Amino acid sequence: MVDIWDRFAEAMTNLLAGKKGLVIGVANDKSIAWGIAKVLAENGASLAFTYQGDSFGKRVIPLAESLGSNLVFNVDVQNSESLDLVFSKIQNEWGSMDFLVHAVAFSEKSELSGRLINTSRDNFIKSMEISCYSLIDLSRRSSELMVKGGTIITLSYLGSQRVTPNYNVMGLAKAALESSVRYLSSDLGSQGIRVNGISPGPMKTLAGAAIGGARKVYRFAEENSPLQTNASLESVGGTALYLISDYGKHTTGEIIFVDGGYHVMGMARPENI
Ligand code: NAD
Repeated sequence: MVDIWDRFAEAMTNLLAGKKGLVIGVANDKSIAWGIAKVLAENGASLAFTYQGDSFGKRVIPLAESLGSNLVFNVDVQNSESLDLVFSKIQNEWGSMDFLVHAVAFSEKSELSGRLINTSRDNFIKSMEISCYSLIDLSRRSSELMVKGGTIITLSYLGSQRVTPNYNVMGLAKAALESSVRYLSSDLGSQGIRVNGISPGPMKTLAGAAIGGARKVYRFAEENSPLQTNASLESVGGTALYLISDYGKHTTGEIIFVDGGYHVMGMARPENI
């Protein structure tokens, strides 16, 4: 006889059984998208991945294979044809999809230090297009395949709402991204599609390292957050799991912080002043 608790335990590790989704933004095994993908796969989800160019492909293809995925596509979000191809292949392979994880951002490293006031027109447009417009574009494409409803998740950062060192134009792009989450949640709610953002504290990734003073910001957030810890790949992955699972079915338009509580602090912790 199967014990009811065994069944409960099995259900709790298989929260996404039968769900299929696309993960955009894995560069390597430190990527936030990879942390999310692992937790989703451990919970029964089937995944497709993208990588940006052949040098990332060499890392991403084996990672995808380790989670049982052979749907891995070379995509640049600025290139519509590359996106057309991915979505037609997903449609052929799966017929429909249940979730999208959007973990993509870019700004020229030279403008992720110093002052916002020196932002160039070209980098402003590029940063906004890659880091914000891509969510709108990908949400439209994904929603056409989310025939039974679905979930869209993107990644933001506190620098969208408050000034954080050297974040500059990325702060503006994340502010626009968070606003897009709210508008998209309204656009897509009647189709049963939920749109949310996760806002982790600083994490040691390629994109994170491009921001001037990243190590200091990492240490400061760790020392001064209520939990005195930064986010981990597992805790961000767990938040994505909750949002994509049926337990998140009444949550949309939200930005959920996963930052050890750092965002509630008005100043450094008293012992650090
Ligand atoms: P990462 O470098 O591992 O991932 C960034 C991804 O964006 C890479 O896979 C890269 O290939 C992809 N990308 C950039 N331009 C692209 C383009 N034109 N087409 C397709 N893909 C493109 O870094 P990460 O920290 O995991 O970043 C993932 C997301 O998390 C980003 O939105 C980032 O802003 C956000 N975030 C990061 C931190 C942090 O401290 N690392 C904190 C909060 C939010």
